[in-house]
Parts: sequence; structure tokens; C-alpha cells
Amino acid sequence: MRTKTLEHQWLHNLCMRGGGDDKDVQNLKRLAAGYAGECEFDDWLSNYGRPHWKIFKDIWIDAGGTTQVDTLLVTGEGVYVFDVKNYSGALEFVDGKWFSSGKRLNKDIFIQLKRSMEKVSLMHYRMGRPGGLYSSIVFINEHHDVKIVDGVDIEVTMRNDIKRKIHKIADEENWNGSLDIEEVARAIETFIIPCPYSPRELEAAEFDLLRRGICCAECSGFDIAVNRYHVRCGCGHSEAKEKAVLRTICEYGVLRHDRELKLEEVYRFLGGVTSKKHLSKVLRRNFKLISTGRHAKYENPRSEYDFVFKDHDFYYNRPVLNRV
Ligand SMILES: [Zn+2]
Repeated sequence: MRTKTLEHQWLHNLCMRGGGDDKDVQNLKRLAAGYAGECEFDDWLSNYGRPHWKIFKDIWIDAGGTTQVDTLLVTGEGVYVFDVKNYSGALEFVDGKWFSSGKRLNKDIFIQLKRSMEKVSLMHYRMGRPGGLYSSIVFINEHHDVKIVDGVDIEVTMRNDIKRKIHKIADEENWNGSLDIEEVARAIETFIIPCPYSPRELEAAEFDLLRRGICCAECSGFDIAVNRYHVRCGCGHSEAKEKAVLRTICEYGVLRHDRELKLEEVYRFLGGVTSKKHLSKVLRRNFKLISTGRHAKYENPRSEYDFVFKDHDFYYNRPVLNRV
């Protein structure tokens, strides 16, 4: 599974709980579309690529400067970088400029990738140039209409070419593949750094305006009835209470990424759905203790539940229907 960026998770939780302004909502939409496009491309790669290929998703690289890479693929033949764009609507590249429905875009998709590839090339060079290095922009949206009038020196893959492109990479591996993929991947890992950007920190006043309590995992509503072992939303969705509590603690951690988890603060955010005593147990069981005592602190994973507790199973996981 591809992890959403902290900025994406933060905006999602902020807007879901009634915070943020129009700009935040627009940003969230843009990030959500980008994420959906990247996940779709992941599916293409896993359906038509080869199981032994190594794929890095949404990584930051430090080589003569930092850069972000959506998808980096290592095959037996070389290293491939993909910049996935999920634009819908008409897009035109004329005279070295991008236009969307006749309006000039203030960013240049090609220059972005070129600048990024300068760093990736330096990394590749420092690794001793294992195999070839290739890059491509992928326009993944099925409702887009991209017209590139000028000749460009960057490879562009349109949606209807993705499958063919992946097959071509597999063919190239058949002909020239001689790399030890694991070894190349390990060398790349030495250049990977954590994302250097964090969302802004919420002021206490802004945070206090956000909705507290458990938010439905299905419909994002707050019409939640809390029973002993389950929580049930007005939309009909039911969830193990232990999971809902843990999920909400993670949401708190994303919103307050600038601090660790403290019992009192998390308790307030949960809006009384569980006792302090029980919450203390949940924290102890699931998060790393950083400092003990009256103001015990637990490590904030700074990530939503789905990315932190991927394989967690709960005793009361089965949804219980028709029980009040
Ligand atoms: Zn719901």
C-alpha cells in the first residue's frame, strides 16, 4: 500500500473535523487526486510488471539537494523514475508553456521532472551507474486530453500506452538485465531521507475548534453510538471499538504532528468515548513509551491508522448487525 503524505493526511483530518479554509480544501483535493493517480499506476505495475521488481513509492532523495520521487522502479536492467500526473480536462503544451482550458499554468511539469532527475542522476552516478537510468511523465487520467504541440526531450506516457510501456521495460530486462536488484535497491536506500516538510502546527485556539470524538471510517460522520465493544454510525457502519479508538488516536497524532501523545490530551480529543483508565491501557499497549510519570508521553506515529497498524486484528472485529 502506498502511504499518503503527512500533508495529505493532515489536510484530510483537518477538513473532516471542520477546520481549514478554502485553500486547504483545494489543496486536499489536489493531493487526493494525485494520490489516487499514483495508486492506480501502482496497480498497473503490479498487474503487468514482474514480481521480482523493486518499487519505491513516494520517497525523498538527498543527492546534491533533495527531491521527491513518486515511483522509482528497479529492474534487472536499470532504474526507472515515473512522475504520475492525474489531471482531468484539457491540457496543452505550446511554445514551452502549459495551458489548461486556455489558461496558462504557473508550473512547468517538464521542468519539475528535469530538476528532480538532476538529483536522481547524481545519485545514480554515485552508485556507480548500475544499468540505465530512465524517466517518464505518466498522464494517468482517463478523462484528460493532453496535447503536446512542441517536441520535448522528456518521455511522456499516455494512459493508453502504460501497459505497452511496462511490457517494454520487461522486454528490455530480458535482453540486457544483469543487475542484482536487491543490491541496487540497498544502494538507493542510503540516499533516502524522511520528507523534509511538515504541515503547519495548529494553534491551540484553532485546534479547539475542531470536532472531537470518533469520526465514522465509512462516511466521515459524527453520528456515532458507542457501545461496549463496538461503535455504530447512523449510516449503518459498525466498527470494533478498540479499533475506532486506536484510529482516532492516530488521527489526533496526524493533526498534532508537532507533539507526542499524552493521555490527558488524547482523552479530551476522544470526547469521552472511553475512560481514562482504559485509554491509558490502549496507549501503553500500542505506542512506544517515551517518558514515564504523571505526564507520560508516547511516541506519535504521525500517520493514520491504516498505515501504522496494517496487519492488526481485533477480537471484536466482526461487524455485529442487528444488535442494539
Ligand atoms: Zn458513517
